[in-house]
Amino acid sequence: MRRDRRVLLLGAGAAACLPSVLRAQSTAPAVVPPIAFIDVHLVPMDQERVLRHMTVLVRDGRIEAIGPELPVPTDAWRVEGQGRLWLSPGLADMHNHCDSRQDMAVLLSLGVTTMLNMGEARNSFVGRLRLAIERGEVPGPRAYVALAVDGSPAYGHLVLTSPEDARAAVRLARTNRYDFLKVYNGLSPEVFDTLVREGAAAGLPVVGHGVTRVGLARQIGAGQVLVAHAEEFFYTFFPPPREDDPDGAPPESAIADAVALLRRHGARVVADLVTYRKIAEQWGRPAVVDEYLRRPEAALVAPTQRALWPLAGYARRRGDLMRRYAFLEALVRAMQRAGVPLLSGTDVSDIPGLVPGYSLHENLALLTRAGLSRFDALSTATRQAGAFIAATRPGGAPFGTVTVGARADLLLSEANPLDDLTTLASPRGVLAAGRWHDEAALAALRRTVAETYRSAVAAAGPSARA
Ligand SMILES: [Zn+2]
Repeated sequence: MRRDRRVLLLGAGAAACLPSVLRAQSTAPAVVPPIAFIDVHLVPMDQERVLRHMTVLVRDGRIEAIGPELPVPTDAWRVEGQGRLWLSPGLADMHNHCDSRQDMAVLLSLGVTTMLNMGEARNSFVGRLRLAIERGEVPGPRAYVALAVDGSPAYGHLVLTSPEDARAAVRLARTNRYDFLKVYNGLSPEVFDTLVREGAAAGLPVVGHGVTRVGLARQIGAGQVLVAHAEEFFYTFFPPPREDDPDGAPPESAIADAVALLRRHGARVVADLVTYRKIAEQWGRPAVVDEYLRRPEAALVAPTQRALWPLAGYARRRGDLMRRYAFLEALVRAMQRAGVPLLSGTDVSDIPGLVPGYSLHENLALLTRAGLSRFDALSTATRQAGAFIAATRPGGAPFGTVTVGARADLLLSEANPLDDLTTLASPRGVLAAGRWHDEAALAALRRTVAETYRSAVAAAGPSARA
């Protein structure tokens, strides 16, 4: 692979100042000097355009200046683009369930600098690890977190059965610094209404699934700001499949109603095509799960998680979900055309085949295959994620674009992502939380995780290796 010696050398210098990869850091990091990206081509993602031969100056984790011939402070780390490399915003996975140090490292190594944990994050992640990431002490994406609540213990969430429970949950979410309340299928209408009302008063917007006894039409009308999967419309909005054709898709004529509802209330949708695609691929096909396990990136999934892949129920089901997947593509396409803001998400990591970071790149590819332009697809993982947080959790530094004043979450790539999105899956470097990680440092993050998992399996003995 072609390597840029200067970038590499400077990157290695920067890496030496980084806290040791994956090691707990108890002390504050050293003062970070400004960082200058010199002679890079920019894909700012504020609109569809490129700015060639620019210098970008970063100070204190924010973009301080952008221009063709900026003076570079003498104490700045210089990352030389040499008129060849491309700089675009770091990526956002706005629906996952990642919360381990290892997942954080893998995500960052693949250019993911923002994520939304959609529920079941460990308290140690919500209260401690994500703050260490924000301070730059641990490599990982800036994480927003949602507290998942349900009306029954069927899916293992926190159970709320009365408005009083809902009020208590909002108080707890606030005390524990959650960012969102995530509603799940089994909540009662009274509890849902209380969550929306009390959540709004506490600055905690409601995101999540379709609630069976409420329905997305009423949920979005009441103020739910985000639908956690495009497929939720199947379950509480579109007419159910006919009994003689349980895998059938709704009529495409029904799509206009969903689009109109979202437009009317300004709600957003996580267009996580990769989630349903993975389910559809393995539906009734155990051999597909075996193939997922053989992929090299499976080494970056926690062994405890990977051990569950063959036990997940999807491969034992009968039927074929591909017509429903094709319908989701049409739904996403229609939402995009109508201007419904779409976010990228993955649902990593309960579903076999989903791998932190890799699945986000897969999702971008699937969005383009569904008919979105590369700019629109990349928008779901950059500027639309930033706009969503700015609208629902105001106050922090904006992100998702390469513009002056924005959080300096940056991805350096070999090619123009607007020509080739796959270039983003092999970053030449990532800047997050004020720290520059060059290509070698990113590869080391993945290698360390794979080795950690390998030795965990080895220590567990032969039975765990099966
Ligand atoms: Zn999920």
